[in-house]
Amino acid sequence: MSSLLAGSHAPTPTFDALGVLPELVDALARRDISTPLPIQAATIADALAGRDVCGKAPTGSGKTLAFAIPLASAMRRSEPRRPRGLVLAPTRELAAQIAEELSPLLAARKMRAHPFYGGVGFGGQQHALRKGIDVAVACPGRLEDLLERGELRLDQVEVVVVDEADRMADMGFLPAVRRILDKTVNRRQTLLFSATLDGEVDVLVRNYQHDPVRHEVEVDQDALARATHRFHAVDAADRAALCAELIGGTGASVVFVRTKHGAERVAKQLDRVGVRAAAIHGDRSQAQRERALSAFRDGKVQALVATDVAARGIHVDDVACVIHFDLPEDSKTYVHRSGRTARAGASGTVIALVTPETRRAAASLQRSLSLDIEHVGDLAPLPAERPAARRPRPGGRPGSSSVAEGDGRRRNRPARPPQHKTAAATRRQGPRAGSRGGATSR
Ligand code: ADP
Ligand code: MG
Repeated sequence: MSSLLAGSHAPTPTFDALGVLPELVDALARRDISTPLPIQAATIADALAGRDVCGKAPTGSGKTLAFAIPLASAMRRSEPRRPRGLVLAPTRELAAQIAEELSPLLAARKMRAHPFYGGVGFGGQQHALRKGIDVAVACPGRLEDLLERGELRLDQVEVVVVDEADRMADMGFLPAVRRILDKTVNRRQTLLFSATLDGEVDVLVRNYQHDPVRHEVEVDQDALARATHRFHAVDAADRAALCAELIGGTGASVVFVRTKHGAERVAKQLDRVGVRAAAIHGDRSQAQRERALSAFRDGKVQALVATDVAARGIHVDDVACVIHFDLPEDSKTYVHRSGRTARAGASGTVIALVTPETRRAAASLQRSLSLDIEHVGDLAPLPAERPAARRPRPGGRPGSSSVAEGDGRRRNRPARPPQHKTAAATRRQGPRAGSRGGATSR
């Protein structure tokens, strides 16, 4: 069990009672933030006391302020090119958003944060460093480039934050993170946040944190359960049309796809049927990603079509609906993607599109999610078409090829004629009917 569960019965302390400086409490109040979320209530006092903190909490649980508040409290003015605070983040979007969230807090103490990421020229970043910034929020690759060019030194860093450590590990950034940490002084304070703390992340904790206090907040089952979850049967070729219809009914949606090509294709398909959509994935330039994000935030596009990596850590509030256009590869990814909606007490809708080819994977996914999932249309797995050896059992490990091979991307039509009506015809056939039906048929 975790040190503090989301929704536990202990009274929630105020930021003030946790020891947060009054000017920071005021800055938070100006953004309508007055009550700490569980991971914040758990970690802020320890971090303010100077302890190393290792925080495990799911996406959307408020980890950014859990480190931004202590960081802004501890900071002192830095000399040019020698920041006292360093935040490492895996993606450009995340670095930009952390800097944005940190800035008003630092501004309340007359200090500055700046994001550093690749894909843009060095000019602006060099200029910021020369002028002097107090907290560098950086992607590891660009930070190493800047270090190599002699644009900054890390010898005065007093507080380091490693955010989304599990994603850093997934993306192969941990060697760079270690090299960077090795350039800071040993007596620094190190805060590490992650949705998981095993494997390589655990090694990082053991080698780079001093006697850390661990705080874990479980997946906010309340938030996840507050959302309406629906598995929707549809032929692969009809997914874009159904998606458009769903977005028409629910409003701003994040649409998750598996590949970069898929993101481009689906955004175009949605545009063609009258839903304004923008794609966000790793092959798009920084300027393109930023345009897509702000168009979505400003309501200029109704759908943000994203790959998992590109969407990681992006903060967009008020997402009415999350659509799994391609099924997620495992339950962890389902939870991460779905965490874009029903945040901070709101409700939301999560819809997974299930093609005949992915019914088995969907049944397996449903078994590993303890959620009440409505079924729309026929989701019973088709009998195996091939020898069992070539078709992994649905109970196979999450992330095994049973999901990846079945997303129907390479096949324009199912191998056999579909045995169910089109989605439009079967939709809204008794919500909740057989919420376990698909999962139990063999
Ligand atoms: P994580 O990093 O854990 O994925 P974020 O830090 O991005 O989560 O926070 C998710 C959302 O919750 C953001 O929109 C943020 O502004 C909001 N939020 C964070 N803390 C609070 C709070 N104490 N009260 C209300 N909203 C909050
Ligand atoms: Mg985060």
